[in-house]
Amino acid sequence: PKRQIRARLFLPHLVASMEEVEQTYIMIKPDGVQRGLVGEIISRFERKGFKLTGLKLFQCPKELAEEHYKDLQSKPFFPKLIDYITSGPVVCMAWEGVGVVASARKLIGATNPLNAEPGTIRGDLAVQTGRNVVHGSDSPDNGKREIGLWFKEGELCAWAAALEPWLVE
Ligand code: ADP
Repeated sequence: PKRQIRARLFLPHLVASMEEVEQTYIMIKPDGVQRGLVGEIISRFERKGFKLTGLKLFQCPKELAEEHYKDLQSKPFFPKLIDYITSGPVVCMAWEGVGVVASARKLIGATNPLNAEPGTIRGDLAVQTGRNVVHGSDSPDNGKREIGLWFKEGELCAWAAALEPWLVE
């Protein structure tokens, strides 16, 4: 693909690790936006060393929230979850990196913030499952699915990060 060719031109020594590069969909939920935590949350992924490839503030329509969470359709909390996600703007992000899917889940912490370790986003910044400030894809396949759901093609940006050789050998 185009992205790999471009990366090869600038960073020939990175080709070997390209297969390990994953994409994940991270979303700051309406409570995170309302509470002014956008910068704080983005900076945690930036500082870890992942690459931002998509970013927008977005008011999510009900149909998209239902599609995104379709695996939870039968849960009793599903209607409340849809109300929550559509209650205000969210920040949609695509992040790229080696092992980014599992690593982002670790940075985010357990679903119930009271069980999330200190140092994680939910552990530091939230108290309730129904207000847990951030979403992260749970598998590389879901990462691709969710990025496809929330972003149009022209909204994503492939770029060679100058610092990459200092993050990935
Ligand atoms: P995660 O977001 O950690 O991957 P799940 O996929 O299990 O967790 O659930 C998706 C989202 O649904 C959670 O982040 C949370 O916002 C909401 N949710 C899950 N379980 C509950 C619950 N018991 N009560 C209210 N909301 C819930």
